[in-house]
Amino acid sequence: MLNSKELRKDFPALNQLVHKHPLIYFDNAASTLKPLTVINRLQQHYSYETANIHRGVHFLSEQGTVFYEETRQKVKEFINAGHGHEIIFTKGTTESINLVAQCFAEKFLQAGDEIILSHMEHHSNIVPWQMVAEKTGALIKVIPIDDAGELILHEYTKLLSEKTKIVSVVHSSNTLGTINPIKEMIRSAHLVGAKFMVDAAQSIAHMPIDVQDLDCDFLAFSSHKIYGPTGVGVLYGKEALLNALPPYQGGGDMIDRVTFEKTTYNDLPHKFEAGTPHIAGVIALKNALEYVADLGLNEILRYEDQLLAYATAEISKISGLQIIGTGKKKSAVISFVMQGAHPHDIGTLLDQQGIAIRTGHHCTQPLMERFNVPATARASFTIYNTTEEIDQFIQALKKIKDIL
Ligand code: PMP
Repeated sequence: MLNSKELRKDFPALNQLVHKHPLIYFDNAASTLKPLTVINRLQQHYSYETANIHRGVHFLSEQGTVFYEETRQKVKEFINAGHGHEIIFTKGTTESINLVAQCFAEKFLQAGDEIILSHMEHHSNIVPWQMVAEKTGALIKVIPIDDAGELILHEYTKLLSEKTKIVSVVHSSNTLGTINPIKEMIRSAHLVGAKFMVDAAQSIAHMPIDVQDLDCDFLAFSSHKIYGPTGVGVLYGKEALLNALPPYQGGGDMIDRVTFEKTTYNDLPHKFEAGTPHIAGVIALKNALEYVADLGLNEILRYEDQLLAYATAEISKISGLQIIGTGKKKSAVISFVMQGAHPHDIGTLLDQQGIAIRTGHHCTQPLMERFNVPATARASFTIYNTTEEIDQFIQALKKIKDIL
């Protein structure tokens, strides 16, 4: 069983007062805190290992290349990809999705083709597709959701046709917490010959993911949401597809040979990694993944499910408070609105008690419209959170309700 009290010691950020109260960090869906193993790895790199990679013949450069490529292998194992070169390092989920949207559109999209998204997508899984739809004349179709915040799957099946070229859907919603049945959805997309991209930004740290079992064509996540450094992301793509796509950006490292007449491109994964990457960040991502793997994703899932069940039951007892997103399968995210109180005021009052939550539209404005709310307050829990913290949060919410 995961021992949250013990592992809290690994996260120095938890050992501080905010507005004279011990920090309660419930903004994990936005970004997770960093364990010492990641912090120390960054310090080690910048103190003793700094060098550029993939091109030097000196010791530090070669060593850096080895460490960088070790993370690629770690990511491959972590999501069970078939090959290391199917792992591309990017800046984050946002860049991974932009990469696929632009490169896929250039190669495969024409006027009249269809792209399917869902109503619960993060803006970073909407806007890149709108940009390429505008350029190519492709059309965007949207899978609707019901009042519980679950995808209406028979509507999805109706949208699929031979015109569908790609479906891009979030695994677990950052606003609702809904976990979507992506394996089943991928199978349906493949039946009409469409490709499927998974936005795993919110699921990667909270449940086991096996890309070969899912049979997804692309999958994206961000290092900073799995206890790793910011500025690093991952794009997984099936080898044949990545080979078929044109490069994303031009520059150093992604080339084979350059002349002014013609340039040939490097092999995977380097074809998609132009320029000097976030070397330290990628290297320290390995420590983050090892940290999670040591705890065990099934254990993490079980623990966070308990926190979610407890918090949901306690929040539901507060009258005038409504949870947005009540699907059957949820990750540990609770969005809510309180009668007569603006979410920002709730967030500010909680902050005064050292409790960090998120308020706003969570980069999901179409969802806000769907539920007819301008914004929500969102608490998201993870491995270092405890039921005692949830009790304090509930007490604080009750007080706020009385004040507002
Ligand atoms: N998709 C989802 C579901 C997210 O929650 C986020 C981050 N809030 C993103 C995409 C974008 O991730 P990043 O900002 O790290 O690129």
